[in-house]
Amino acid sequence: MSPRIDPVNTSTMIPTQSTVVIIGGGIIGLVAALNLAERNIPVVVIEKGKLAAEQSSRNLGWVRKTSRLPEDIPLAQAADRLWATMAERVDSDVGYRQAGIMFVARQADQMAMHERWFEHVKHLQLDSALLSSAEIARRVPGGNCAWAGGIFTPSDGRAEPTKAASAIAKAAQRLGAVIVENCAVRSLVTSGGRISGVLTERGEIKCEQVLLAAGAWSRRFLINHHIALPTLPLICSVLQTKPLEGPTDIAVGAPDFSFRRHHTGGFIVTQRGALDAPLTLDHMLIGLRYRQQLKQGRGNLRIGFGRYSFQDLRLARHWKENQRTPFEQIRTLDPQANSGLNQEALKNLIEAWPAFKAAQIAQQWAGVIDVTPDSNPVIGSVTSLPGLVLATGFSGHGFGTSPAAGQLAADILSGQSPLVDPAPYRYERLS
Ligand SMILES: Cc1cc2nc3c(=O)[nH]c(=O)nc-3n(C[C@H](O)[C@H](O)[C@H](O)COP(=O)(O)OP(=O)(O)OC[C@H]3O[C@@H](n4cnc5c(N)ncnc54)[C@H](O)[C@@H]3O)c2cc1C
Repeated sequence: MSPRIDPVNTSTMIPTQSTVVIIGGGIIGLVAALNLAERNIPVVVIEKGKLAAEQSSRNLGWVRKTSRLPEDIPLAQAADRLWATMAERVDSDVGYRQAGIMFVARQADQMAMHERWFEHVKHLQLDSALLSSAEIARRVPGGNCAWAGGIFTPSDGRAEPTKAASAIAKAAQRLGAVIVENCAVRSLVTSGGRISGVLTERGEIKCEQVLLAAGAWSRRFLINHHIALPTLPLICSVLQTKPLEGPTDIAVGAPDFSFRRHHTGGFIVTQRGALDAPLTLDHMLIGLRYRQQLKQGRGNLRIGFGRYSFQDLRLARHWKENQRTPFEQIRTLDPQANSGLNQEALKNLIEAWPAFKAAQIAQQWAGVIDVTPDSNPVIGSVTSLPGLVLATGFSGHGFGTSPAAGQLAADILSGQSPLVDPAPYRYERLS
């Protein structure tokens, strides 16, 4: 099952040439396309399935600075500014509301983690504040729990994934970007050691530069070109409730649930303390690089062989230009939602805020997250292949920063001064 995305009329013809080809019509590729089109740079977005049908419509919609790695916060601050004017820029509501995000801690060690983060980011002058249990109760009334404390950032917020990507795509089209769906890019074309085009299942598009924004598929795409990009998959399950009063407009994350209001009046809920970690061949190849993450997050990972593991094993890792690729075999990654985890989330939420007793599940889905060893994305050039830029590996938090991340990718492609320091995102740190 998947969320209903605002429809976009895309092009049925693929052009034979452009300046930039973007592989992947998720929010990152689409924001980059909007920025390039605004700069009058010819751009084509090629999407193997439907726009935003993978992570970019399945995410929770949180737009946050809280709990980010300090080096990733300038990008999130830039994204806040860009979200604030996005509706006007694309002439359509993208659901952005700066209603605040609050994390609550059940135990002292969880609170200590928030306190450490708060200390580490003090120099960035965020509006975050540590909260007592009484302050949490005042901001989000009707609760049943005595929390060890919490942290609240009023300038954090949310946007609507099922609206934002489509609105951005339409705005990019109005400015001349060509967007094609149901067309997989099979491989890169090079000449003289640099990018000269892409080969799609419907023929070649000549271009000067390629932006790879293929989410969970980027690693497999690059393996075929012998370019290493370490990412591992995690699966996050989500439920949406039918319309419900609810206790607050603030998005709240507890150790074992989270909720935020949806634009239709329901709530988007997940088990924040549990992600499915399907084992794949990549765990044997690059798993050791995730030792630190495993040490910190082991309790949150449900590691095992599941449907995704077997599907992944069956997909080719190398192919020839005339062969059908994994991208044509799986147009949309649509893992089964773990309804057990969703039920757990709802139960924990009801215990904490009994107003959710009235919640009825409207829909459930899951999405595959592409996680890098340091949890930061790659936004940068691959120096060994001039003309290739990556914007991928967003590690479960790329929706919130997408307006800035896509713009940074466009800055790199067009040689403009970068929106923020790109150093934390360079490809070479992982290679
Ligand atoms: C359940 C869930 C909850 C999340 N919650 C949040 C949140 O609250 N806040 C937040 O900031 N982030 C969140 N995230 C992360 C966020 O959704 C992602 O970081 C972000 O959407 C990444 O966008 P993307 O464009 O890189 O990837 P995607 O949206 O996955 O797009 C990649 C696209 O590339 C296409 N593609 C791949 N290969 C090819 C090819 N060869 N040819 C053509 N097309 C190709 C795919 O079909 C896909 O549409 C969440 C993710 C999930 C799954």
